[in-house]
Amino acid sequence: MIDSNYHSHHMLCNHAVGTTEDYVKKAIELGFKVLGISDHVPSETVPDSMRMPYTSLNAYYADVLDVQKRYQSLIDVYLGMECEYVESDAAYYQGFLDTVDYLVLGHHYIQHNGTLQSSFNLSKPEHVLTYAKEVKDAIASGYFSLLAHPDLYMCGYDTFDEACEKAAHLICQTAEMYQLPIEFNANGIRRGIKQTSQGNRYPYPREEFWQIAKQYKMPIILSSDAHHPNTLYDDAMKKAEAMIQLLGLKTIHRLPIKNAKNRL
Ligand SMILES: [Zn+2]
Ligand SMILES: [Zn+2]
Repeated sequence: MIDSNYHSHHMLCNHAVGTTEDYVKKAIELGFKVLGISDHVPSETVPDSMRMPYTSLNAYYADVLDVQKRYQSLIDVYLGMECEYVESDAAYYQGFLDTVDYLVLGHHYIQHNGTLQSSFNLSKPEHVLTYAKEVKDAIASGYFSLLAHPDLYMCGYDTFDEACEKAAHLICQTAEMYQLPIEFNANGIRRGIKQTSQGNRYPYPREEFWQIAKQYKMPIILSSDAHHPNTLYDDAMKKAEAMIQLLGLKTIHRLPIKNAKNRL
């Protein structure tokens, strides 16, 4: 029985619906004991319209912390953020970690030949290998408490080929080494089934990746990646639970949070 979610968004990123309180009320209604809000970080290095602007950052912190306090007798609320990893900017991650409880690595962009490329539509084996290498470096950096949708590289990539297999091993090996939880992400299911040369599949979670993940011993956690309070536990989550069972994956329900702040 699901009673937590650590990957939930906020209306401040401009493509999600709901304030912290909307998500928390829904989570309480569902019987959740823990809710982590982890909206998309502002960033100048990785510009994208799908994230909150810097001018919203303080409002975001204040909103989550206010709700955390007001609902503390009913549910544990954590303040998180989701971001990509760019090696050159240690101060940037440390800056967030001064305030937030945890960072989620959602590696939505890779750096390829000096340009940013969306991880949602990688098309060449070398892109997939770059994704895996950057995720490996991100895990090793120690900034993150959770690796979101590790198999995002399959989103626009048709065939699970040798590069995809290599990428899966590299990511899982590293996650095992650092004991970093990796996420089975229900939002890929909400994107709907797509036709691939290997049959009809969700863009992610991708079965072939998780068959490889099974060979390693890192923690696995199911997340909604909710962009609306009603998706905290929806049909996509139920389908994800069924896939997890079919794949024989063992999941954890509490995320070890590296940077958890003292509560009042
Ligand atoms: Zn989003
Ligand atoms: Zn997300």
